Amino acid sequence: MADVLIVEDDATIRTALVRALTARQHSTMTAPTAMEGLQSLVEHRPDVVLLDLGLPDLDGASLLAMIRAVSDVPVIVVSARDEGAEIVALLNAGADDYLVKPFAADQLDARIRAVLRRAESAEVSGPVTVGGIVVDARARTALLDGVPLDLSPKEFDLLYYLAERPGEVVGKRELLAKVWNQPYGGADKTVDVHLSWLRRKLGESADAPRYLHRVRGVGVKLAPPP
Ligand code: CA
Repeated sequence: MADVLIVEDDATIRTALVRALTARQHSTMTAPTAMEGLQSLVEHRPDVVLLDLGLPDLDGASLLAMIRAVSDVPVIVVSARDEGAEIVALLNAGADDYLVKPFAADQLDARIRAVLRRAESAEVSGPVTVGGIVVDARARTALLDGVPLDLSPKEFDLLYYLAERPGEVVGKRELLAKVWNQPYGGADKTVDVHLSWLRRKLGESADAPRYLHRVRGVGVKLAPPP
């Protein structure tokens, strides 16, 4: 299934993880320290990383930052610390999921499959066109009627996410989870604010929408003007 890099200093847990993942058709490589983990990541390019937070040489959060500087590989944080705030901070720092020890091997396997599915669907494809809007994820450019749009990174991500689903109503919670990587985020105004900025850059208003349509109480959709 997947090549899994396990960064874990506890030999007993490491062995148990290798055994459990091997039994589920994954191949594994292990690193007992953060620096060896980083080296293994660069050399072997695994499909997914299991990252223990308590490592002898470096905190897992620091290692996560170093991983994100060089790779988009899905990272599942494996933590003994059941601390909500810390987990949220790690998810915001680029972790894809987390598990609190102890956990069942089947649960780990399910999480690995889920992050791999997400990574696959996020694989960059060709430009997406919705009416006069063309979004090119590879070049990170967006055009409206041939004119480049000056978008912030999040506005771009938001537009791209909606453009990939033309005519589909997307909920705010989904946007928060997929665009902001905050699956556990509260009901803040982040999405609304970015939607209104994006709307302005598309040259339209809430009263006279062309592309960006609000569906009250449900979410928002991007659709070509009639
Ligand atoms: Ca540890």
